[in-house]
Amino acid sequence: MKTDHRDKDQTETTVSRRDFLATAGAAGAVALAPGVLDAASGPVPTANLGTTGARVSVLAAGTAFNLTPIALRSIAREGITYWDTAQSYAGGNSEKEIGKYFAKHGNRKDVYLVTKCGNHAVESFTSALNGSLESLQTDYVDTYFLHNLGDPDRLDDEMKACQEKLKKEGKIRYFGFSSHHGRMIDVLERAPQVGFVDTIMFKYSFRNMDDPRLQKAMDACAEAGIGLIAMKTQGGRQPTDVTVPAWEGYTRHQAALKVVWEDERISAICSEMVNVQQVKDNGAAARLRRGVGYLERQDLQEYAIETNHLHCRGCAHICESRVAAGTAVADLMRLKMYHDEYGKRRYARDLFAQMPVAARQVDGVDFRDAETACPFGLQVGNMVRDAVSKLA
Ligand code: SF4
Repeated sequence: MKTDHRDKDQTETTVSRRDFLATAGAAGAVALAPGVLDAASGPVPTANLGTTGARVSVLAAGTAFNLTPIALRSIAREGITYWDTAQSYAGGNSEKEIGKYFAKHGNRKDVYLVTKCGNHAVESFTSALNGSLESLQTDYVDTYFLHNLGDPDRLDDEMKACQEKLKKEGKIRYFGFSSHHGRMIDVLERAPQVGFVDTIMFKYSFRNMDDPRLQKAMDACAEAGIGLIAMKTQGGRQPTDVTVPAWEGYTRHQAALKVVWEDERISAICSEMVNVQQVKDNGAAARLRRGVGYLERQDLQEYAIETNHLHCRGCAHICESRVAAGTAVADLMRLKMYHDEYGKRRYARDLFAQMPVAARQVDGVDFRDAETACPFGLQVGNMVRDAVSKLA
């Protein structure tokens, strides 16, 4: 059985009750050696969420799949108290399942609950929250995110007033955004400047942690007391074709988690765990999260070098200005990843269908300049054409 760890993102997975109960299902699991599992017990540790005053479990449950009661029970039993959902997850069913769970178990207050809205117009952002609260069967969420923010100018006075009003009404405790957008660093840079962003969830892994601009933006956020949550900590591509060595019972997957947890600016890692074994194994890894060994770090670096040409980091500012047609290279690459690597084909196609026509254009488009500019050697033309042929 292949092992993998599925990072949380805004994709959607269909997981049946039987799949969830299965040990290391199709999406795989982070496999810890028995000794490590035995050593890890007790609830998942907690950490401060920046200077917000909230404490959150260092492992957050991403719920972009068809949740079942047993999945939520397993997450709760593991002591994972940070639950992340969004209006778009599983066509709204993620929020509804969580709501049903709260109604049945009465544990709303035990959970740090996050939801997100993909419509960033203030009116929609506000009105959609009411629908989320209804689905979630609660009168407040702990964090309300702008979903996948890419425009730093959206963090304007209007949005400031909007989130203040929602806080005053008691509907949200904290405001922020998630981002895996091509302009992710731009929005991270803006957040500490505007002074009203409490928390951010963003793409962070062994693959992009060497980016000095990202590091500087993270420093500024941390200094401003913004709570930082990492997602996509496996760097996107699953290393299924590589023999995974183990160090003291850890796999490469654990090493990828540990290097992120080792970063003290990060409050939690958000991870989509689609079966009981993944919940248990990631929970165990969270309890033993500190201390990345030299060999683990070296292996990750070598693995990144081996696979960087296969993985788009989403740094659209580098390549997209070199594509005259306006093709959204980074978005197409991301949807291709959902389709090819995560197996989320329908969801990838749905997202593709929502893209503007110009952003999907590949016929007759010259990608050679973009390819030359890409510092990671991606075959941009071939890859985006392949994406469009699969997603159209
Ligand atoms: S194709 Fe290369 S330059 Fe363009 S977004 Fe992806 S990794 Fe960055």
